Amino acid sequence: MPVLRFDNVSKLYPGGHAALSEVGFAVDAGEMLFVTGHSGAGKSTLLKLIQLAERPSRGAVLFEERNLAKVRGGRIARHRRDVGVVYQNHQLLMDRSVAENVALPLVLRGMKRAEIGKRVRSILGRVGLEARANALPTQLSAGEQQRVGIARAVVAEPPLLIADEPTGNLDPTLSAEIMALFAALPERGTSVLVASHDLALVKRMRKRVLVLDHGRLVDDIAPEDLVDG
Ligand code: ADP
Ligand code: ADP
Repeated sequence: MPVLRFDNVSKLYPGGHAALSEVGFAVDAGEMLFVTGHSGAGKSTLLKLIQLAERPSRGAVLFEERNLAKVRGGRIARHRRDVGVVYQNHQLLMDRSVAENVALPLVLRGMKRAEIGKRVRSILGRVGLEARANALPTQLSAGEQQRVGIARAVVAEPPLLIADEPTGNLDPTLSAEIMALFAALPERGTSVLVASHDLALVKRMRKRVLVLDHGRLVDDIAPEDLVDG
C-alpha cells in the first residue's frame, strides 16, 4: 500500500499561474525519495499539500489511501502528527533544552514520562547528540541544530517524514552528513520525502528523484537510472 499518492494534482494560487500542474506519483511504505527543481518549481507547494497547509485546486492527495480533502477541522492536527516535518531553519524552541525539544511530539501524544525519556535518549544517541541533551539550541552549531530537528521529526516514528531544503543553510560537507541521516535514521517502514534544489547533492544519495519544472513533474528517476554530473 502506498503511504502517499498524488492523483493528477494541480494547485493554482489566487491570481497566480499553476504552482503544480497535473502531478501524479506514489510513495511506498519505507521508500526514500527526493523532489528537486529550480526555485519556484513547486517543491514547497507539494510539501504544503501533504501537511494540509494548502489544498489542491484539482486532483487528490491520498495519505494511507485516505483522501486528504476529507480531513477537516480537528482532524487536521491529528493528520499533522502522522507527518514528521523537518524545516530549513529547524524551528526549535530556543528556551527549551535539546531533550525537551525532541520530547515534544511524544508529550503531545500523552506518552508516559519514563517512556519519553527512554526514546529521547535513544534517538539523541543515534544522531550523536547524547552529550548535548541538556544544552540549549543556541549553544549548538547549525549542523547540530539540524540534527535536533531531524531527531524531533522522527522520534514518534511517523509513517512519513518530509523536509523542505533541510540543508539550505549548511556547507557541502555538513549537507551530505544531514542527507545521510535522512537515509539512515527513520525506522524501517517510515517513508522519507526531501525537497532540495541541490541536484548534485541529491544525485549522490542514489535514491529515487522526482523532478519538477514550472509545476510539472517532468521526470521520475529510479536510483539505477541516475547519471552523475
Ligand atoms: P523558495 O524558492 O525557497 O520556496 P519562494 O520565494 O518561492 O522561496 O517562497 C517563499 C515563501 O513565500 C513560500 O512560503 C511561498 O509560499 C511564499 N510565496 C512565494 N511566492 C509567493 C507569491 N507570489 N505570493 C505570496 N506568497 C508567495
Ligand atoms: P519551490 O519550493 O520549488 O521554490 P514554490 O512551491 O514555493 O516552489 O512556488 C511555486 C510557484 O508558486 C512559484 O511561482 C511561487 O511564486 C508561487 N507561489 C508559492 N506560494 C504562493 C502563494 N502563497 N501565493 C501565490 N503564489 C505562490
